[in-house]
Formats: sequence, C-alpha cells, structure tokens
Amino acid sequence: MSADPMSHAASRAAHRRDLAVRAAVRSGLLGDDHAPVVALLDTASVREAARELHAAFREVAAPDQHVLHTFAVKAASLVPVLRLLAAEGLGCEVASPGELALARAAGVEAARTVLDSPAKTRTELREALAAGVALNADNPGELARLDALVPCSGSAPQVGLRVNPQVGAGAIGAMSTATATSKFGFPLRDPGAREALVRAYRERPWLTRLHAHVGSQGIPLELMAEGVRVVHALAEEVNAAAGRRQIDTLDLGGGLPVNFASDETSPSYATYARLLADTVPGLFDGSYHLVTEFGRSLLAKAGTVVARVEYAKSAGGRHIAVTHAGAQLAVRTVFAPDAWPLRVAAYDPKGHPKTGAPVVQDVAGPCCFAGDLVARERPLPLLEEGDHTALLDTGAYYFSTPFAYNSLPRPGVYGFTLTEDETVSFTTVREPQSLASIVTDSGAAHADALLDA
Ligand SMILES: *Cc1c(COP(=O)(O)O)cnc(C)c1O
Repeated sequence: MSADPMSHAASRAAHRRDLAVRAAVRSGLLGDDHAPVVALLDTASVREAARELHAAFREVAAPDQHVLHTFAVKAASLVPVLRLLAAEGLGCEVASPGELALARAAGVEAARTVLDSPAKTRTELREALAAGVALNADNPGELARLDALVPCSGSAPQVGLRVNPQVGAGAIGAMSTATATSKFGFPLRDPGAREALVRAYRERPWLTRLHAHVGSQGIPLELMAEGVRVVHALAEEVNAAAGRRQIDTLDLGGGLPVNFASDETSPSYATYARLLADTVPGLFDGSYHLVTEFGRSLLAKAGTVVARVEYAKSAGGRHIAVTHAGAQLAVRTVFAPDAWPLRVAAYDPKGHPKTGAPVVQDVAGPCCFAGDLVARERPLPLLEEGDHTALLDTGAYYFSTPFAYNSLPRPGVYGFTLTEDETVSFTTVREPQSLASIVTDSGAAHADALLDA
C-alpha cells in the first residue's frame, strides 16, 4: 500500500517546520541547559488557516451576510496569537474572566467577543452586559440572574441561550457536548424542553441569539451539521411564534476536528461550510447573522514542541528516550493516550531530521510518574542522548495550556517566519517561565504562613 502523495501545502508546512527546528537548535533558542524544550509557532500557517476559514464561509454565505468568526481562546491562550488572529479578522470566544482579560489585552473589542461559560458569576454577567460583550446563558439559573440584571444594564444586551441539541456523542466522550446528559446548555429534547425554550424567548424580547457547540475533536462533521440544523429549526420556530425576527444571530460553535495523523489539513473549513449549506439550506440565505467559534482547527497544525533527549536507556527490553516534553505540555496525550495520539518526529543533535531504521521505543517526558510517556512502542529512528524530539500539531491545547506538575516551567513560545531565501526568524510570544516566577507562584511571599498560624 503506498501513501497518498502529500499536498503542496502540507509538504511546504513540513519543510518550514524542519527549517525552524534546525534554526532553533543552531541559534541556541533550544539547547542550553535552561531551555531543553521550546514551542514553535508557524505564523504563516496560522494566517493561512484564518484565511481558509473566511473564504470557506464567504463561498456559501449570502453576499452581505454578516459572519463573525471568533477564536476559542482556550485553544491557545496567548495574547500575541489573539492579536495575530484579530489582524486576520477574527474575534474571541472566551469562557472565563482570565480569557476575557486576554482578549482585551490583545485589543479585541467587546463587540467582537462572545462569553460562553457554564459557571458565570453575577459579577461576570454584570460586567459583560455593561461592556457590550455578547453572552450565551447556559441554564435556567443563569437566565433568572439575567432577568434581574438586563433591565438595569443600559446598553442593548447581546444575549442568547446555549442549547444542547442532544444529537449524540462523537469518538471522545469527554469532548462530546451534545449527549443527552451533557453538562452544557439547555437540553432541547427533554420532555417539554422545546416548548419551555420557545416560551423563554417569547417572555424576553431581549433574547436575540441562539447558540450550540456540539463538541470538540472526534465529532463527525455530519453530527456537527445536524446540531446546526436543529438550532436553525428552533430559531425559525421561535421567530414564527414571536411574529418577528427576534433571534437575529445564530452562533454555530466550533469543533472542526484536526487530523493528527499526517501533515494534511483535513477536513477543511470548505468541506464543512459546504456540508452546512447542504444540510441547513436556510442558514446562508442572509436572514441571520452568524458567529463561529473554532479553536483547535485554527492553531493545531501551526505548533511544534521541540525537546532535547536527555538520556536514552532500556528496561525490560524496551528502548526508552527520556526527553524534556511530557505531561507538563501534553496533558491529554499522556493521560488519555488512545484518544489523543501525537506524531513524534526525531531530529539529530544539530536539528536535522534523523534517519535510520525504525526501532520500537517509548518516548518519555521529565515528570516523576511512570505514565509520563508521549508515545508508547513507537517505531522511530533510535533516539540517543543529545537528539531532539518534536511533538507535531501541538499548536492548540498543548503548550499554551501547561500543567504545573513537578514545578516544571512553562516553556518559551516563539513565532517563526521564513524569508524568501528560507532564513528563519524567531519572535518571542511568551518568555520561558523563570525559576523565580515558579517560586513566586508557589507562595514564596507567605513562606512563614503556616508557622505563624
Ligand atoms: C472549546 C469550545 C470551542 C472550540 O472548540 P474547538 O474544538 O477547539 O474548535 C467553541 N465553543 C465552545 C463553547 C467551546 O467550549
């Protein structure tokens, strides 16, 4: 069986990555004892993904239909990333005061920000309303709080309800938000739920939006589109009952899955947008403003974690490479390896792709627990002390969301671009965390606190 030839875009991206790894090693960005692991972000790849998203919806939307693409900040909570995406015309989807602060720090206006969280406090709700941030209420308790807050909020509130269309699960249970008992949103198919939702809108003329997010990674496109079909039908029903276009904005969520098995970007935004147009013909007739909230699919392919192999050893006949990238950067892969496999690429001490016959080996991280493996029994050129490993497709939900186990520092994140002659230049996105900062974050200012108590 021969593999499909790589597309031009995929082989270009892989080539840029190889050049960036070599440059990171050669320039010393990676390598001295204080930086045994770094994260690299391919700026061109992020821009390309944003442009493909815009183009995909432009292709199917009505000519003057308003479509706001927001970026799910949790996927890469880094201010320069948010600003790059804002420069590419994206807003932000936020789910905590911290994420909202990051969006603001990146200069993203309130009118281009959507707040979705299942646990918004009264203060968060009040501040979002006052600022003009759109928000989607998750449950009846939150709606009751809004009943009290909206009348005194002054400006025109941008409020919707998040519904759970209950269309079912995808391949990863923890990522499936549209199961019958999901913790998110107003369930739509419970007995009496649909009538109650229509009534909730009829009683609140200020409810003008409707939101669903069917899940993240592992959700088949058809299921995502079915969720959108159900949401669109509900909006039509509410508007018919109201006798006016009370719901004017549909927020379709994110969730486009990422291919972690090769350099190809699939499925594409274009495929999904065409499927939406086929499944929900009314969606793109121009009668609704649309919002999307993609995260992983915008950033995953652009990111690479590069780590030094500190030692190579063997145990029980198994080769084991002990590297500096493990659970602190690849939490999901380490704790749920079957759901979140990552490709690992091998590079030599100078940062050139390593060749040699594949040898089955484990690729371990630096954390002090036995399960800290980013790959198990993986055939790779035999890794040796001083080599490097690269964890591919880690631009979303990996290095931007570190785990502070063993007081390991957050690694530096560097954006890279290539000149015409393929010279790589790096720019700092996030400094590596210093030991002083780890100590400060760990209560150093209160060192005597427990003695005095
Ligand atoms: C996580 C999340 C997203 C983004 O999901 P991706 O799979 O990263 O595209 C969008 N909307 C909501 C409400 C989310 O919780």
